[in-house]
Amino acid sequence: MGAKPERVFGSVVVAALIACGGSQQGEAHPAQGVRVVLDTTAPFAAAPDFRARLDNTIDAALQYWGGTWSDVDGKSITLVDDQYLDCNGSSALGCFDGDIRITTRDPGIGTFACIEETVLVHEIGHAVIGDPDHTDPRWMEMDALAAELSGRAGYSTDGAVPCVTYVSVWRHPLGSP
Ligand SMILES: [Zn+2]
Repeated sequence: MGAKPERVFGSVVVAALIACGGSQQGEAHPAQGVRVVLDTTAPFAAAPDFRARLDNTIDAALQYWGGTWSDVDGKSITLVDDQYLDCNGSSALGCFDGDIRITTRDPGIGTFACIEETVLVHEIGHAVIGDPDHTDPRWMEMDALAAELSGRAGYSTDGAVPCVTYVSVWRHPLGSP
């Protein structure tokens, strides 16, 4: 057993991406840490607690999947408004292909009120264990994690709303890609 891996809370770098035009502003490209690209109009991504909430959600997901911050080191997390992402030829709410992309909109719920509601915890799972065919039973066992991450402040264009996590958003039927 080596030393407990350091939690790099301070190293999440948020890079603002101008949605129309696509030019990126002064991004840092740290060799270490997680690079975050915001290509979204979701109010939670502009809230002052976003970085802390993102760090905490990543941390909780890493603990759930048995990973450490080294599993996401050097990867990027991109948040987009597009409801469906192209992920290796299929349509998805999130994708891990070496980097993580997630939508801020759910087809049923609408624009997510908080980072905790997104499929980030699912994609962190792929970053930690791989398992593209979802054979690990943990893909269907996220109730405790959902409870842990639920009940915080949420944001909408009309003001404060609850942040409610739904395991149905994160779960995936076992044995299917
Ligand atoms: Zn998956």
